[in-house]
Amino acid sequence: MRYVSTRGEAPALTFAEAMLTGLARDGGLYVPETVPQMPAEEIAALAGLPYEEVAFRVMRPFTGDSFSDDELRQAIAAAYAGFGHAARAPLVQLGSGHFLCELFHGPTLAFKDFAMQLIGQLFQIALARSGDRVTIVGATSGDTGSAAIEAFRGLANVDVFILFPHGRVSEVQRRQMTTPAEANVHALALDGDFDDCQAKLKDMFNDFAFRDAVGLAGVNSINWARVLAQVVYYFTAAVALGAPHRAVDVTVPTGNFGDIFAGYIARRMGLPLGRLVVATNQNDILHRCLTTGRYETEGVTPSISPSMDIQVSSNFERALFDAYGRDGRAVAQLMGELKATGGFTVSQGALQTLREVFGSGRVSEDETRATIRDTLAATGELLCPHSAVGVCVANAHIRPEAPMVTLATAHPAKFPDAVEAATGIRPALPARMADLFDRPERVTRVPNDLAALEALVHERRTA
Ligand SMILES: *Cc1c(COP(=O)(O)O)cnc(C)c1O
Repeated sequence: MRYVSTRGEAPALTFAEAMLTGLARDGGLYVPETVPQMPAEEIAALAGLPYEEVAFRVMRPFTGDSFSDDELRQAIAAAYAGFGHAARAPLVQLGSGHFLCELFHGPTLAFKDFAMQLIGQLFQIALARSGDRVTIVGATSGDTGSAAIEAFRGLANVDVFILFPHGRVSEVQRRQMTTPAEANVHALALDGDFDDCQAKLKDMFNDFAFRDAVGLAGVNSINWARVLAQVVYYFTAAVALGAPHRAVDVTVPTGNFGDIFAGYIARRMGLPLGRLVVATNQNDILHRCLTTGRYETEGVTPSISPSMDIQVSSNFERALFDAYGRDGRAVAQLMGELKATGGFTVSQGALQTLREVFGSGRVSEDETRATIRDTLAATGELLCPHSAVGVCVANAHIRPEAPMVTLATAHPAKFPDAVEAATGIRPALPARMADLFDRPERVTRVPNDLAALEALVHERRTA
């Protein structure tokens, strides 16, 4: 199994190489050369299996020679052992034909734990074998950074540096990043906003001398291994609701398009997912693009679902690559246009291809709050604001012929202010992390300056 870049210029890599590299050197994203197929009888055989066994069967064809069966099984077992729910991704019924897939039972209370916990284990195995060391640098608006730190804390051969915008993450998110005591964890509060963090991260990756000197590795949502880990819960959810014998629709609260792209891969493997519905908040570049064909950045407007406040949806490039018949040159041209002019127009043919799979909807702040309130009243389920965006869009897309699954991407206690404002109820942290507010914090304030950041990374590395 080889992985190729969406821009067609970088060398093909193995699964482990693509995982350790993150971004391709031509600026593109790695995708599998071909998508392995899972026949209907193999999908049917997943019914009733533990989450870990489904994970092994779904991911195995993608990992090629990079890991032995035993290594992959062990990594999966270790990754999900710390989850607070035996089902890992349990389904809850919200109403007739509408189900919620709860993805927030991991250690940092957001779905990003599914992928990050697994790649923490896989990095560990790959690095122990090669003897290499890597420096992970990530930028976060909150959830990715906390999940990455939780996954890599204390692991050998890895330092993890996380840049977050000073003063702009929730207190729970900040404490999840600043309270781990392990020496290989470095929480950096940057003087700037999330876009500044992301820009500095990109600059570090484009400084090839620095990149090679510190063994820079990326674990942001464009890392293919993260996408792969997220394919699994589409299988467990759809099979529980009758796949492969009937089709299931899914609505996904979307920011960087990583989570929903995993659903697209599940569909390409043969899982009968009918519609994949993109749910956005007021930062609706994807909804506008799927509606009009024009992909155009506007400024980010802060919302009560901050993990979806994005300008440029990185993983959308992977969907475009397929929609353009896997023409790397065409994708490179679109991305060049985006960089130069702030937008591009998707060709009619590609747009039609995308629309055959993806629906979309956009939700206002008022609608988000109303959905949190109404869902609590109707079902007793307390939604986080991101999940509420999903539920609101899903309600408008439910079809009589297929059950709808909405992905619940974070625990309400991760965004207690928004939930309390909507319902009057302040959601409590799960008991296993109830002491989060008592643990001492450790954080370094950093200027929005590349040279200073690179110097700091050099100096603080534990290797
Ligand atoms: C990251 C995140 C999202 C968006 O996921 P993408 O893969 O970027 O589309 C949605 N909700 C929550 C809570 C998140 O942390």
